[in-house]
Amino acid sequence: MKNSKIALLMSAISLASTVLAGNPLLETYKTPHQTIPFNEIKTEHYFPAFQEAMKQHSTEVDAITNNPQAPTFENTIVALDKSGALLMKVGSPFYNLLSSETNDDLQDIAEKISPLMSEHNNSIRLNEKLFARIKAVYLQKDKLKLTPEQQMLLKDTYEGFARNGANLSEADKAVYRQLSKDLDLLSLQYGQNVLKETNNYSLLITNKALLSGLPNDFLGVLAENAKKAGKEGWLLNLKATCYIPFMKYADNRDLRRELYMANTTKCMLGGEFDNLENVRKIANTRLKIANLLGYKSYADYELVDRMAENKTKVYDLLDKLLAAYKPTAAKECAEVQSYADKNGAYFKIQPWDWCYYSEKLKDEKFSVNDEMLKPYFELEHVKMGVFGLATRLYGIKFTKNPKIPVYNPEVDAYDVTDEKGNFLAVLYTDFHPRDGKRAGAWMNDFKPQWKDGETDSRPHITVVMNFTRPTESKPALLTYDEVQTFLHEFGHSLHGMLTKCNYQSLSGTNVYRDFVELPSQIMENWASQKEFLDGFAVNYKTGEKIPTELIQKIKDTENFNTAYSCLRQLSFGYLDMAWHTIEKPFDNDVIAYEKQAMASTQILPSIPNTGISPTFSHIFSGGYAAGYYSYKWAEVLDADAFSVFEKNGIFNKKTADLFRKSILERGGTEHPMTLYKRFRGQEPTIDALLIRNGIKQ
Ligand SMILES: [Zn+2]
Repeated sequence: MKNSKIALLMSAISLASTVLAGNPLLETYKTPHQTIPFNEIKTEHYFPAFQEAMKQHSTEVDAITNNPQAPTFENTIVALDKSGALLMKVGSPFYNLLSSETNDDLQDIAEKISPLMSEHNNSIRLNEKLFARIKAVYLQKDKLKLTPEQQMLLKDTYEGFARNGANLSEADKAVYRQLSKDLDLLSLQYGQNVLKETNNYSLLITNKALLSGLPNDFLGVLAENAKKAGKEGWLLNLKATCYIPFMKYADNRDLRRELYMANTTKCMLGGEFDNLENVRKIANTRLKIANLLGYKSYADYELVDRMAENKTKVYDLLDKLLAAYKPTAAKECAEVQSYADKNGAYFKIQPWDWCYYSEKLKDEKFSVNDEMLKPYFELEHVKMGVFGLATRLYGIKFTKNPKIPVYNPEVDAYDVTDEKGNFLAVLYTDFHPRDGKRAGAWMNDFKPQWKDGETDSRPHITVVMNFTRPTESKPALLTYDEVQTFLHEFGHSLHGMLTKCNYQSLSGTNVYRDFVELPSQIMENWASQKEFLDGFAVNYKTGEKIPTELIQKIKDTENFNTAYSCLRQLSFGYLDMAWHTIEKPFDNDVIAYEKQAMASTQILPSIPNTGISPTFSHIFSGGYAAGYYSYKWAEVLDADAFSVFEKNGIFNKKTADLFRKSILERGGTEHPMTLYKRFRGQEPTIDALLIRNGIKQ
């Protein structure tokens, strides 16, 4: 018995040590630029590597806390920033592949790793000895003669702990932990209710005449839905892929109303999945957390780490935009109403009529669609255009490097060099949908940038898309939206590639959340610029340049009903702020409170007994609490910043240089407003956005 137990133990040890010994994740990579050797890493390498990496990280943290020397910026704050390098090395391929090349085995490991990682992170975040050292350094911050970047690192490190309750008494810490747990659970429940109530709804149509107006391929999808449910006919549901096209195209007004009402009364009519009480509980729990940590409201707590800084500035933005866009939104509504009147409507336009008549009016006014534009946007040409833009603006060059291992043969890897030919970054591009890749488009890094003495360790960046792949007869052709998406994610990549910081937790895209979309969104502005399009947008069959009228149509279409859309975004921003600026527990009528919060943005009639709060997942189960405004905030920034390029020339090297040095290279090393003003010479105003949207001349 005894012996076999030992034997078992021995074999376990030798198994573990072989996995560790031959584990490429734990060795120094011998690839170009020490890129990840995807070809050598096997799925079974991850779990033991994660375990080893967590162990090493803990040892590194222990070395900081047990350091007999008094805490200093270097031996505590910098040491902590540098700790966990192996964990990052193991985690970065793993979590990237989980999004772009996943499989069941990887998912299983993710599930096994997730609780271990939470526990590991908590053991650091709740480490009192560690916080005592951080605080000791923080309290001397004025005497330390730190650079702005060092001050930022110190502030971020200290606040990261303080905002998680590190300064609280033992009793309050317990309260904080309980509140955080409650909040997690409530948010989870809220999100699941929205999902369940959405999935529970379906409406079977057996009379095809009721579906007039719907495009054929969409009818095919509805018929397929019915078939899957074992029914005959056409099955409608409330998922965005069904709801949005239905509201746009369905001629039958009663059905549009029925679907609208079903969608806007989700989770608020009682029953198992009702969220009204969850809305109150989430808002009140967040208030309690904020109060416990010394803030008046949850918005006050959230906005400390934002470019906007406080709720006054958020409301200032929302109010200014509202005043500027409301008159135009009213005109847009009148135009849609008069179009509907001319086309036989005998009623005042209601919310369920809006998309339907808007879409028809848009077609009549602009007659431009994806199919007309796609021939000009062959992926290979667009790629040349986008890379070429970076070369013109920043002097950087992209050279395909087939020696860099990739995780799928479709992925390309590039050496990116600066104007002097020095190595700047690795860029991976992954353009097409595959099984195992999630939907959407994103940028991420495989390795962050940091400096250590003379060593500047350059980043490895990836952009991942889901563009339709080429066929034998046709190259990959992008829609205009996809061209913008490419530019957007490429903008994030530039932020990642051009970064020149010292500390990895501040480098690249590690910036405040309402600032991170500036480098990406600004790039989208080039998409409708003739000078830019002329360089690459040629018809893949005829070689003809994209016609100027088509470019104008793109611009006009972009501004169609733009004021109405702006008001809608503002209404969500106001609602979000209303829930997170409460300073007393809320126990009133959720829907009445919501209607009041959104009243000033209302252009179409407000429909009684409908609500958004019970299904506003962005703020109640996503990460956007007191942050919804940031969509508009970023738009103001990108338009304001791009106006400088418009003034000086969209390829103006001096302007690009200033943008690069002030913003793209700086990561989160200083407050974003400081960085922005260094580029712009002043704080942003909404004027450029108004001009871009045609609201102001
Ligand atoms: Zn983005």
